[in-house]
Amino acid sequence: AARKVWHELQPEPPHIESRWAYLHEAKLIESCMIGYAHRNRQKKIGNVEVVSSEQVFDILMKDGKTRSGGLMDQVNRINGQPWPRDFKTTGKTDEYWQRFCSPSDQPTRYIHGLTKLTGEKVPGLVLEVLRNKKPTKKDSDPKPEIIEFLATRTPSQLDRWEDEQIFLEGELDRCRDQDMWPQADDMTMCQWCDKRMLCTQSSELSIMAKLDKYYTHKIWDFKSLHQEDAKNEKAAEQESTKSPTPENEHPKS
Ligand code: SF4
Repeated sequence: AARKVWHELQPEPPHIESRWAYLHEAKLIESCMIGYAHRNRQKKIGNVEVVSSEQVFDILMKDGKTRSGGLMDQVNRINGQPWPRDFKTTGKTDEYWQRFCSPSDQPTRYIHGLTKLTGEKVPGLVLEVLRNKKPTKKDSDPKPEIIEFLATRTPSQLDRWEDEQIFLEGELDRCRDQDMWPQADDMTMCQWCDKRMLCTQSSELSIMAKLDKYYTHKIWDFKSLHQEDAKNEKAAEQESTKSPTPENEHPKS
């Protein structure tokens, strides 16, 4: 099945000079086999029960107004306790993923969401990373590996996070009410920001023109992301067969 999808999405192997040249079909199959062996090992140990996959949550917070939602890759019971599990494929280092665990919104949101869904204490989130390192002079063919990281949160951290979400939602309400959208205090990231095209405009009218031309306004519907993903993949495929025009050279979001 993996080979079939690979050939559908990538009829030609990656170009030899591409930075992704080492991620070829054989590496995909090797990665699948590593994943399969990992899954069998877990089954044998028997302490991980998969409760659900692609678990949607939509939680009402304590102010009765602010919502938090998302889509967990998997919900597990590990030694009897509920844990969300998130899967990543990557070439990034351990340090990167340790930093991803905390502070970080995604693990907190998922742990908070599962706490509300189950009504039980959720100790944390398991981050399962399948890594394919780039070949180096020292190691010309590094093997795929699976590494697990734990992002833990205490009940008081979750409570504080919920208060912060309610506060931020209040700030957004103020922005909407007054139609006032202050630019970032710290502008060091502006040069890489994909909204830069808007922030460099000299008037609201020209911002609106750019928004109309280059952006699609739609609600982020995490409850139907699978259908969205399939649609986006198809659209991207069709888009990639078109020759570049000023419009399709710019990202839409
Ligand atoms: S360019 Fe991006 S980061 Fe900078 S102010 Fe605009 S939206 Fe904020």
